[in-house]
Amino acid sequence: MSSPTSAVSARSQALFERGSAVTPGGVNSPVRAFNAVGGTPRFITSARGAWLTDADGNELVDMICSWGPMLLGHAHPEVLAAVNAAVARGTSYGTPTVPEVELAEEIVSRTPVERVRFVSSGTEATMSAIRLARGFTGRDMIVKFAGCYHGHVDSLLVAAGSGLVTLGVPGTPGVPDSATALTLVLPYNDRAAVTQAFAEHGDRIACLITEAAPGNMGVVPPEPGFNQFLAETCAANGALFISDEVMTGFRASRQGQWGLDGAVEGWRPDLVTFGKVMGGGFPAAAFGGRADVMAHLAPQGGVYQAGTLSGNPIATTAGLTTLRLATDEVYAHISAAGEVIKAGAAAALTAAGVPHRVQSAGTMFSVFFTENEVRDFDDAGTQHVAAHAAFFHSMLDAGVHLPPSAYEAWFLSAAHDDHAVQTVLDAFGPAAEAAARALDGAATA
Ligand SMILES: *Cc1c(COP(=O)(O)O)cnc(C)c1O
Repeated sequence: MSSPTSAVSARSQALFERGSAVTPGGVNSPVRAFNAVGGTPRFITSARGAWLTDADGNELVDMICSWGPMLLGHAHPEVLAAVNAAVARGTSYGTPTVPEVELAEEIVSRTPVERVRFVSSGTEATMSAIRLARGFTGRDMIVKFAGCYHGHVDSLLVAAGSGLVTLGVPGTPGVPDSATALTLVLPYNDRAAVTQAFAEHGDRIACLITEAAPGNMGVVPPEPGFNQFLAETCAANGALFISDEVMTGFRASRQGQWGLDGAVEGWRPDLVTFGKVMGGGFPAAAFGGRADVMAHLAPQGGVYQAGTLSGNPIATTAGLTTLRLATDEVYAHISAAGEVIKAGAAAALTAAGVPHRVQSAGTMFSVFFTENEVRDFDDAGTQHVAAHAAFFHSMLDAGVHLPPSAYEAWFLSAAHDDHAVQTVLDAFGPAAEAAARALDGAATA
C-alpha cells in the first residue's frame, strides 16, 4: 500500500487534509473515499479521453468514468462544443426548453418507455418512481433485492437479511424503522423468494424494483429469464415492475440491459429509471414508462413530483449530445476493449494463484476476488478484500485508477484506445502478485 507520505501523491494528500477539515470524510460521496482500500483519494484536476490528471501531475487510466457516465471519454470535443454553445444561451430558465423534448424523444426511441420525466439524480428518479407506483396502485409495500443500490432513498436503504424473505430494517442511522417497514428485501436471482413474497403479501405490493443488472455489488447478471419472470410475477399480482437502469442504461448496451433481455424476450418494465450516461457528465436523470402510469404524475395526474433544475438545458444538452454519439460502434469498441481487459486480468490472477471471478452484463463487468460464482449479495461478500486492496494500490501506482471498492463495476469508454488498454494490461502482473502476497499475509496472520 502507498505510504502516507508518498511523494507521488503529496499534493492530493495535502488537499485531502484541507477538504477533510471542511467536508465530512473529505469527500462528497462516500465511495470516493479510500476507506475500503486504505490511503487517501487522488484529487483530479483535469481529464481528457481515457486519462485523468491528478493534482501531482500523474496521468492515470480512468477505469471509473465518473461511475459510469463518461461513455464517450472525458472532454469529448462535440459534447464540449454543444455544452459551451448552450451555456452561452443562459444556464436555466425554469420554463420548458427544446433540449428536454429532444432528449425525451431520444430516450423513448431507444428504450421501452413511452413517457419520460426528468430529475437531477438517480436517487430522485427511483424515489419518484416508487411514489408513482404507490400512487398508481393505491398499495404501500415495495420489494427490493439485497445488494441492489437505488440511491440514498430512505425506504430503499435497507440492510440485507439472511432469511429467505426479510422485512427490512434500516441500513443506516437516520432512517426510522417506519421508513423501511414496508420494504421487503429478497436475495437476488432467487425466484422462490420472489414467489413466496408475492404469495404472502401480493395484494399489498405496489412495486418490485431491481437493478436491471446489478452493478453496485460488483456485476451480477440476472440469470436467463429472471427479469422476465419478475415482470410477469408483478403483472400477475397487479404490482408494477420498476427496472432501475441508472447504471446499465445506455451502457450495458445501446438500449441498456433491456436491450439484452426485454427487447429480445418481448416484455417491458412498467417503469424504468435512468441516470449516469444520459446526463453526459452533468446532473441529469429520469424515470419513465407506460403512458397510462405516467399520466398519474402532476400536473396531468395527482401524484406530486417536481424539481427546480429538472430538465436543465445544459444537462439535457450534454445528455442528448452524448446519446446521439453513442452509436453501435461505440458499444462495439467498449465491448472489445472490455474483453481484452477481462482476459488480461483473469490471466494475471490465475498465474499468481489469486482466486477470482470475472462477471459481465453486456459491456459492464467486474472482477470479484473470490473463488465462488457470485449470484447474489451473500456470494459477493465472500471476497478477499485485502487481496483487492493490494491489487488496487498496485494498479494505482502503475497509473491505472480502478474503483476503490471490491463491490464496483469497472468502467470503460469509447476513448480507451490501445495505449490506455496496454497500460492496464501491463499493470496486471505486478498487481496480481501484490494480491497474492496479501492473501498469503492474511493466511499466515
Ligand atoms: C448510481 C445509481 C443510483 C443513484 O444515482 P445518483 O445519481 O447517484 O443518485 C441509483 N440506481 C443505480 C442502479 C445506480 O447505479
